[in-house]
Amino acid sequence: MARIGVFVCHCGENIGRTVDVPSVARAAQGFPGVVVSKDNKYTCSEPGQAIIREAIREHMLTGVVIAACSPHMHERTFRRVCASAGLNPFLCEIANIREHCSWIHEDRGEATAKAIDLVRLAVEKVKRNIPLETISIPIERKALVIGGGIAGIQAALDIADGGREVILVEKEPSIGGHMSQLSETFPTLDCSQCILTPRMVEVAQHPRIRLMTYSEVESVDGYVGNFDVTIRKKARKVDATICTGCGACMTACVQRKVSNEFDEGLSKRTAIYTPFPQAVPNIPVIDQMKCLRILSQKKGKQDACGKCLDACAIGAIRFDQEDELVTEKVGAIVVATGYSLYSIGKEQDSPDISGYGEYGYGTIPDVIDGMQFERLASASGPTAGKILRPSDGKEPKRIVFLQCIGSRDRAKGIDYCSKICCMYVAKHTMLYRHKVHDGQATVFYMDVRANGKGYDEFTRRAIEEDGAVYMRGRVSRMYRDGDVIKVVGFDTLAGEPVTIDADMVVLATAIRPRPGIKDLAQKLSISYDKHGFLNEAHPKLRPVETNTAGVFLAGACQAPRDIPDTVATASSAAAKVLGLFSQESLEREPTVARVDISHCAGCFTCERVCPYGAIGHREIRDRQGRLIKTVADVNPGVCQGCGTCQATCPSKSVELMGFTDEQIFAEVNAILA
Ligand SMILES: Cc1cc2nc3c(=O)[nH]c(=O)nc-3n(C[C@H](O)[C@H](O)[C@H](O)COP(=O)(O)OP(=O)(O)OC[C@H]3O[C@@H](n4cnc5c(N)ncnc54)[C@H](O)[C@@H]3O)c2cc1C
Repeated sequence: MARIGVFVCHCGENIGRTVDVPSVARAAQGFPGVVVSKDNKYTCSEPGQAIIREAIREHMLTGVVIAACSPHMHERTFRRVCASAGLNPFLCEIANIREHCSWIHEDRGEATAKAIDLVRLAVEKVKRNIPLETISIPIERKALVIGGGIAGIQAALDIADGGREVILVEKEPSIGGHMSQLSETFPTLDCSQCILTPRMVEVAQHPRIRLMTYSEVESVDGYVGNFDVTIRKKARKVDATICTGCGACMTACVQRKVSNEFDEGLSKRTAIYTPFPQAVPNIPVIDQMKCLRILSQKKGKQDACGKCLDACAIGAIRFDQEDELVTEKVGAIVVATGYSLYSIGKEQDSPDISGYGEYGYGTIPDVIDGMQFERLASASGPTAGKILRPSDGKEPKRIVFLQCIGSRDRAKGIDYCSKICCMYVAKHTMLYRHKVHDGQATVFYMDVRANGKGYDEFTRRAIEEDGAVYMRGRVSRMYRDGDVIKVVGFDTLAGEPVTIDADMVVLATAIRPRPGIKDLAQKLSISYDKHGFLNEAHPKLRPVETNTAGVFLAGACQAPRDIPDTVATASSAAAKVLGLFSQESLEREPTVARVDISHCAGCFTCERVCPYGAIGHREIRDRQGRLIKTVADVNPGVCQGCGTCQATCPSKSVELMGFTDEQIFAEVNAILA
């Protein structure tokens, strides 16, 4: 005989204002099987919980219904209360009379009647609940970090320092990401390479970090604690196990006119190259699209060039090397794939800066973007840190910086603020004045957003100490007049049009998601926003978690971020991973599908419809080992309890624990009664 207790909550005034809570409790008292029904101001409070515990013991309850807020809020709390009183926690049901009644209805009578209905169906369901046990899943205590920028580096080091193994996968030949391209960094103006390269080396030497550069994640299967990852190690055409990084191959290479990506096209590199001198690992890679030997072989010609082969004394050049697929089991994944810049000529999802023809990028050679300016200002850059015009190598005496190119522009489809540009433009004006003492920097801005520790002081310093002129307004057109770039705009504070002569123009272009990120997101079953930045599970309460358990986010893959914010998110993602790995095994809710093997006909409709790939095959054999039949088999670690299999199984052999057909129909009948 069912003995059900019903506890109806006022939720302060949240429910009580609209729903007549005492009436709901009184109505429930009359439902078949209900032996006690009470209302309480705050059922989730300690006194409220105590009342439930006492009632379970006193009335020997076999099931409990809590009529209160959403199960998202307090289902766990109430299940724990039941467990503490000796009742199986899955014999507790929630009737959501806040979000489903009081918050969405105005009429008290209607809201109360609906609340009574919801309690009635919860009572009918809980009568049919059976005790369930949580599922225990082992955890592989090894993490995968995807992306070797400062976010991935920080996350990998924190996890490894916390005592766990890490595989760090970077698609480029070296780790470092955008930070390795920067000159000096706001707000302290410390040299980017000086703070980054020691960390890169630390990663390479860390006994618990396995670095896989020039590699990409091919596929991801499995679930939290047990991901099976396949990684493609792209062929460097160089044997990394013996290469000493002496650079003789690069010196010998005759193909010297390849646009250098690291210098943002402001210099040339060879076909066999390391991206930059401090690269980690310091092992070159052959650019197969540019190598004369590979290109000529593709055309069926024989070995046009072999200079690097000849130059390498230890025989590390391997033209026969092919891509390799490596499989690894990991328990958690940190995605740290960073951002790309809104810029012409680069791989973009959409749109590209050619939509900004008025700024002459790509047509006027001395119109460059912010990252190109970083390379000019960097001591390791193409001009050894001198600010020189790309067109003629002369020192520009007047530079105009334009903010918000592509950002905050609804007409062009990017409505968000790129967040870091106000700060790096202020930095650029300073770096410029530190190098060209008689230079004049003018900044066109919409408004200055400098909300970080020391950030406002930093931008003021650019104006007050380094003499940058900030002009509020937009530029409508730029054109070349001989040697000069005419910048035509409108000063909105003075209320008048202005034309400024510039020797160079720097565009602060929008921060964009990485091209290809949607592909990776699909492999990981995580979501992204309308722009392509990866979504967190909850912006306030779970900012580095995703909607897939065990997959975490770090850095600018999530939104435009500066280095301090990037490092902070990387460390918190690492903390989440270490928290996960601190457990012996994972406890999972038992609300997963189960197959009745005696009925299953092995049609595998369930396998085809399962959105999580949770269903496999199981062979049923007799005592002699002869195959009787093959049936569906649910992996409880992967199953998310969506019930699609239950709804589609033609022989009704699959049931979702906690949501069986019998329970669902009991609810429906209770409503229709
Ligand atoms: C012009 C400019 C100046 C800046 N100046 C400053 C400054 O002075 N101070 C400051 O605090 N911030 C500055 N920033 C911001 C800074 O660049 C970022 O905060 C930082 O680089 C973000 O790091 P990240 O690791 O998240 O991303 P990234 O630096 O973009 O690194 C991501 C890494 O992931 C790799 N990757 C991408 N996709 C994959 C994949 N599928 N598989 C494997 N690897 C992948 C990439 O190759 C890259 O190495 C500046 C930005 C710009 C544009």
